[in-house]
Amino acid sequence: PPFPLRLNGKVIKGFGRGSKELGIPTANIPVTGLSVGGHEDIESGVYYGYAGLSASPATGSKPNVYPMVMSIGWNPFYKNTVRSVEVHLLHKFDQDFYGSHMNLVILGFIRPEYDYVSLESLVEDIREDMEVGKRSMDRNAYAEFRRDPYLLDFE
Ligand code: ADP
Ligand code: MG
Repeated sequence: PPFPLRLNGKVIKGFGRGSKELGIPTANIPVTGLSVGGHEDIESGVYYGYAGLSASPATGSKPNVYPMVMSIGWNPFYKNTVRSVEVHLLHKFDQDFYGSHMNLVILGFIRPEYDYVSLESLVEDIREDMEVGKRSMDRNAYAEFRRDPYLLDFE
């Protein structure tokens, strides 16, 4: 698909798969976010880009922009009939931000969705995804997207 892709949604409760316990919390948004953006055909996998978060105590009470890696994947909990959208922000927050609004600008694709035989291999891959995402966004050409007005456009 042509990048950047833009979509948005409200941060909802996920599936309690313990992402936070693994040190990799993922902010879930409803999969309807994909149709809002007109991207329901997007390939499942891991992507990187920027996320704008609406103001909350977690953001220092003002809207803010963070680099992120995200997965779009089929959810086994729903027998693979619906997909989930989960975003890991590359920032250490000292509190949760459920209910916040999140605007996403997706800049690139990292890898397709895999099935994992072990938790260790999953976590290992996610750590690698975070490095790939960070390196890509450090490249100069992406700096302008961090200032994309879409990211901070909250009603
Ligand atoms: P859930 O199953 O409800 O999505 P997670 O274990 O994935 O639970 O934790 C996600 C929540 O953690 C987010 O909704 C957000 O409120 C909080 N959070 C804290 N730090 C981050 C971060 N760096 N990236 C994403 N979410 C974070
Ligand atoms: Mg989650």
